[in-house]
Amino acid sequence: MSRTSSYTVDPARLEGVVNEPLFAAVAAEAATRGIPAFAIGGFVRDRLIGRACKDIDFVVEGDGITFAQAVAERLNAGHVHVFKNFGTAMFILRQAQDDLQVEFVGARKESYSRNSRKPEVEPGTIKDDQERRDFTINALAISLNAGSLGALVDPFGGILHLDQGLIRTPLDPDITFSDDPLRMLRAVRFANQLGFTIDPVTFDAIKRNARRLEIISAERIHTELNKIIATARPSIGFNLLRDSGLLQEFFPEFLELAGAEEKFGIGHKDNFHHTLQVLDNVCEKSDDLWLRWGAVLHDIAKPATKRFVPGMGWTFHGHEDKGARMVPKIFRRLKLPLDEKMKFVQKLVALHLRPISLTKEEVTDSAVRRLLFDAGDDIDALMILCRADITSKNEKKKERYLRNYDLLMRKLAEVEEKDRVRNFQPPITGEDIMLAFGIPPCRAIGDIKTVIKDAILDGRIPNDRQAAWPLMLEEGARIGLQAQYTADPGPARPSTASA
Ligand code: ATP
Ligand code: MG
Repeated sequence: MSRTSSYTVDPARLEGVVNEPLFAAVAAEAATRGIPAFAIGGFVRDRLIGRACKDIDFVVEGDGITFAQAVAERLNAGHVHVFKNFGTAMFILRQAQDDLQVEFVGARKESYSRNSRKPEVEPGTIKDDQERRDFTINALAISLNAGSLGALVDPFGGILHLDQGLIRTPLDPDITFSDDPLRMLRAVRFANQLGFTIDPVTFDAIKRNARRLEIISAERIHTELNKIIATARPSIGFNLLRDSGLLQEFFPEFLELAGAEEKFGIGHKDNFHHTLQVLDNVCEKSDDLWLRWGAVLHDIAKPATKRFVPGMGWTFHGHEDKGARMVPKIFRRLKLPLDEKMKFVQKLVALHLRPISLTKEEVTDSAVRRLLFDAGDDIDALMILCRADITSKNEKKKERYLRNYDLLMRKLAEVEEKDRVRNFQPPITGEDIMLAFGIPPCRAIGDIKTVIKDAILDGRIPNDRQAAWPLMLEEGARIGLQAQYTADPGPARPSTASA
C-alpha cells in the first residue's frame, strides 16, 4: 500500500496524558460521578502521531453538559457554552501557548433516516459512540476511568490503520456514508492532510455513494474543500475527489478542465493537471487560502473559451475575463464569502495573464507601470500565481520565461521605487480641476484625470503635481475650457471647491 505520510505512530506519546491537569480533572469527575469518561477522536489520533491539535473531545456515558460544567469548575475555566440540541458543551482552556477548545458529549447511539443528516439519537455506550464515528483512526479513545486509566480503547483496529496510513470506516462503509455523506469528503481531506491512503473497500463505497452528497449543505462542503486546498499538496485531494466522483457533485466546472483534445495532430495541455500543478506550486510559496483559490480558478473558463483556429492552433481567448465573471457564480453556489476575498480572487483570475505576457516580450516601463497600477497591493500575490503558472514541459521555453520573470520582478521593484504607481493617487484632483476652470462637477473632469493618469502610466510625465499641472491646462484648453489662473495655487481642499 503506498503511503506518503511522514508520521510515525508511537503509543508512548500517550504516556503521561492522564497526569495533565485537564485529563486528571476529567478522571476525577468521572470517579466522583461513577460514570465512564473518555478522550476520543482527533485528539487521540493526533497525539499518537505527534501532530498538533487544538480541540479535544470527551465522551461520557451520561450527561455531557453537567459533566462539562463540573470539569470547567475544577479547572477554573470560565464560561461553558451549552448546545442543548446536540447535548454538547464546550469551554476554552487558556494555556501558556495555544488555547484549547474542550468539548464534552454524552455517548450516543444514532440511527439515520434516508433524507437527512439529522439522526435519531439515544444515550449509548462508548462502543456505540465509537461506531458512529467516521473512520477507525478517528474512533480511538483513551480511558479516564479507574482500573483502566490511560488505556487505549480501540475496537476497530484504529491504531493499526494509523500505522498503515489507512482511512477506513468502522462499520460497513455504505452505512457510514449513507448516514452522513459529508464523511466521504472528510475521507479525502484526511487522506490529503495526513498523506494516508483510502482503503479500497471504503473508496469503492465512496464511488457508489457520491451522489448522496446532494443532501449536504454548501457550507459543510466548502469547509472540507478549503481544508483540502490548505494542505501542502492539494493536487492529491483533487485527484481523489475526481476519481471518487465527488468533484462532479459540487464543482463540475473544475472537472470540465480535464482532457486534451487533438485536431490535425495539434493538441493542447490537459488543464485539469495544469491547474493542479499551478495550485501545488502556489502552495509552496503561500499559505493564503484565497491566493490558492486564485490558482484553482485561474483557467476555469478555458473550456468555455476554447477554439481551434486554423493556422494558429488552440486558443482560449478571453478566458481570464470570462473566468473572472465565473468566480461569483461559483462562490455563490459554494456559499463562499462574496466580499473582498472574492474580489481578490476575481482580480487574480482577471490579471493572471498580464505578467506572463510581459515575460514573453521586451518588458517596457510603461507596461510595468500599468501592471502595478491595475494590481495595486495584490501585485505580490499575482506574481506568485504568475510564477506558479510557468509549467511548460519544453525546458528551453520554461528557462526563457523564468529568466524574463526574474527580469520583470526587478523591473517591478525599480519602477515602483521610481514612480510609486502601486497605490496610485492622482497628483491633480477633481477639486483642482473644477477650481482651475471654474466648472461644476461634469464629465470633463474625469476625462482630464484620465489623460493625466495615462500620461503618468505611459511614462510621458513623472508622477507629480508639477508635471501634471501644465498637462491639465493643455488638455482643458484642447476641449475648450477657460483657465481661471495658470500658476498652480497648490492642492485644493474640498471645502474651498464646494463653497
Ligand atoms: P480536525 O480537527 O483536524 O478537523 P478531527 O478528526 O478532530 O479533525 P473534528 O471535526 O474536530 O475532526 O471532529 C472530532 C471527531 O468527531 C472526529 O475525530 C470524529 O471522531 C468525529 N466526527 C467529526 N465529524 C464527524 C462526522 N461527520 N461523522 C462521524 N464522526 C465525526
Ligand atoms: Mg478536531
